[in-house]
Amino acid sequence: MRVVVLGAGFGGLELTTRLSERLGGDVDVVLVDQADSFMFGFSKLDVIFGRAEPERARHPYTALVKPGVEFVKATVTEIDPAAKVVSTSAGEFGADMIVVALGADLDPGATPGLLEGGHDFYSAEAAPALRRVLANFEGGHVVVAVTSTPFKCPPAPSEAALLVHDFLTSRGLRARSEISLVMPLPAPIPPSPAASEALLAAFEDRRISWHPGTKVRELDPVRRVAVFADGSEMAYDLFLGVPEHRVPTVVEASGMTVDGWVPVNPLTLETSYPGVYAVGDVTSVGTPKAGVFAESQAGVVADRIAAVVRGEAPTAEYDGLGMCYLEFGHEEVARVTVRFMSGQAPTGTYEAPSTALARDKKEFASTRTRRWFGYDPELSL
Ligand SMILES: Cc1cc2nc3c(=O)[nH]c(=O)nc-3n(C[C@H](O)[C@H](O)[C@H](O)COP(=O)(O)OP(=O)(O)OC[C@H]3O[C@@H](n4cnc5c(N)ncnc54)[C@H](O)[C@@H]3O)c2cc1C
Repeated sequence: MRVVVLGAGFGGLELTTRLSERLGGDVDVVLVDQADSFMFGFSKLDVIFGRAEPERARHPYTALVKPGVEFVKATVTEIDPAAKVVSTSAGEFGADMIVVALGADLDPGATPGLLEGGHDFYSAEAAPALRRVLANFEGGHVVVAVTSTPFKCPPAPSEAALLVHDFLTSRGLRARSEISLVMPLPAPIPPSPAASEALLAAFEDRRISWHPGTKVRELDPVRRVAVFADGSEMAYDLFLGVPEHRVPTVVEASGMTVDGWVPVNPLTLETSYPGVYAVGDVTSVGTPKAGVFAESQAGVVADRIAAVVRGEAPTAEYDGLGMCYLEFGHEEVARVTVRFMSGQAPTGTYEAPSTALARDKKEFASTRTRRWFGYDPELSL
């Protein structure tokens, strides 16, 4: 039995770890990724704001040593979900089961002027450069803006605005600066009214101006203005943008997408092709695009595959539950837990910011690093 897992992000890492735990060498797992290391989404903010060194935030795939799992560094160039064959820059892989965990690609070029006049703060590649830009920033109007929906980690733009406030304050630049947060959504985190309310209070407290329901159409890099969908404009000195998200080209070409993303059975995560699953940001399963959701979906798929390999009927089902940490600045972190069930309004709880939750968030990252890569991040990097 061979399982080919495409993408070694939150979903692919959890999936292969769980399969190895459940089945060891009884299954042949091939994990393919074009990158040579993994970085947690939230570590990008740590790098940008100087809270972590770029090299310490990266976890090399060479550390991935698990019974039954082979890591292949290669670009996936074609997926044939009917024949269950995957072509890569390192050759072709036939499979009994395929799991697509290729995430969402960022397309900064889709917003005219963003590459020339602004900064993408969502990609791992852009983070070290943006850190240098911030280090040389002398104050002015900082605009944090989301260009389109859906986007990964809905709390991240709010976190970025709060961290910009802390950063400018610590540099003595806050008094001569303005911060604006521009989002197409009506609330900072629509599925969690309590978290949204707390964020709005924090914005008011820190004089961050909040612009909901506003879509960025383009940037004019010469005049340094952002142009919104209704034609109105906002001048900026530093523009931090969340670029448009799209399914990776190879997934689109596979014919598995509907309206831009891969539809799956919300309980089993199986696509319309038997034996082909999809987890995480690449899907349209109905949960936000966030690592915690990708991880729990991967757990369900791993349990279902393990049952099939053992000749049992798979029973694991996805419960739509996810928990997100939320950076509030001032070294405090809040926590939101939300359950998304298809056809029902999301329900959840909100825990106010504290330093205890900031410690929990660190432990969240450490347990994943230990579990997926087998080393203690505090000791080994
Ligand atoms: C600033 C920021 C903060 C965030 N904070 C949080 C947070 O606090 N909590 C949280 O849960 N989530 C957070 N996220 C979101 C989280 O990072 C993603 O939702 C999560 O990584 C999605 O997991 P995934 O497995 O679906 O995809 P990914 O983790 O993106 O993995 C996809 C993998 O596929 C590989 N790949 C893509 N195309 C190809 C190809 N053609 N060939 C080979 N390999 C390919 C990529 O290299 C990548 O390793 C944050 C994101 C950002 C940007």
